[in-house]
Amino acid sequence: MPPTKEKASNQNIFVAVRCRPMNDAETAERCYSVIDTDSENRTVVVRERPQTGSSSKTYTFDKVFGTRSKQVDVYNAVVKPAIDEVIAGYNCTIFVYGQTGTGKTFTMEGERSAEHLRWEDDPMAGIVPRSLAHLFETLESMDCEFSMRASYLELYNEELFDLLGATECDTKMRIYEDASRKGSVVIQGLEEVVVRNKHEVYNIMKRGSQRRQTASTILNATSSRSHTVFTVTIHLKENTVDGEELVKTGKLNLVDLAGSENIGRSGAVDKRAREAGNINQSLLTLGRVITALVDRKPHVPYRESKLTRILQDSLGGKTKTSIIATISPANSNFEETLSTLEYAHRAK
Ligand code: ADP
Ligand code: MG
Repeated sequence: MPPTKEKASNQNIFVAVRCRPMNDAETAERCYSVIDTDSENRTVVVRERPQTGSSSKTYTFDKVFGTRSKQVDVYNAVVKPAIDEVIAGYNCTIFVYGQTGTGKTFTMEGERSAEHLRWEDDPMAGIVPRSLAHLFETLESMDCEFSMRASYLELYNEELFDLLGATECDTKMRIYEDASRKGSVVIQGLEEVVVRNKHEVYNIMKRGSQRRQTASTILNATSSRSHTVFTVTIHLKENTVDGEELVKTGKLNLVDLAGSENIGRSGAVDKRAREAGNINQSLLTLGRVITALVDRKPHVPYRESKLTRILQDSLGGKTKTSIIATISPANSNFEETLSTLEYAHRAK
């Protein structure tokens, strides 16, 4: 992509698209594919009538993953660069955004392909276990003292739930800005688990995602309408050449967003969703925050939702943000796919 003027004002938002394969239901309904991905040219083509090739629309992104992309490909291209930033003491955020059923959780957490495989060797492992393991390996290979902590929270209807907390559904959490460390956000009451070695990583994630399932049953809520934020914080102490001690803190936020199906193509709440009261304040505000950052607006509306307040110290400024938009190839999801691509494209 030629470096355009727009690109020059980019707030370090990296936007990728991943198209999953056609699923059994879509195949059974005799759906056909309306998506063509071209990884080399980083384009996604949406065809309204594939037979005639008419009314197709082409979108260009920073990275495009086709139906046969592997978990490791996504990790290497999108997440790996963020690990170095975190170790250098910056905050990074990676979002998965898209319609329910298009592979957000598959991309973020991954799955197990076989019980006998160690998760470390499982090709289906997603971004969360891979990034924690990679952080560990990198820190262990450096000549430094370090510690790592993880937290995992769910946001449903603008309420916070601690997925790693000692007590179930503790909602007495409060978000505030730490005055002693300018701009950094603290969530009082949120459990932070110390991660001692790379082998513990998977079970910590699993514990949280099981809790997410249970909580949604108790609340009679569908997890498609909640967001989860998995945060890893590292502290490291390095000795500089002149014998001084250098302390760095970096944070990686891995965010599995609520299904985007209520956000219309304009980026606003869909009329039908509004009538049904399905307004997802955090998802809407996130779109506005990203637009404000990309357009370099003087005011960024972080305070208008819980999600953007939580991530305030990790969006904009010197932080790195990536979005992986997930889509289905099927003609039956045509409208939602266009909405997702438009949303993702606006972030660039
Ligand atoms: P979401 O979290 O967006 O609602 P999921 O991650 O739960 O969607 O994915 C829905 C289904 O599609 C799961 O059964 C998952 O295994 C499958 N799936 C999603 N993405 C892919 C992919 N890239 N390759 C293979 N299967 C996928
Ligand atoms: Mg999901």
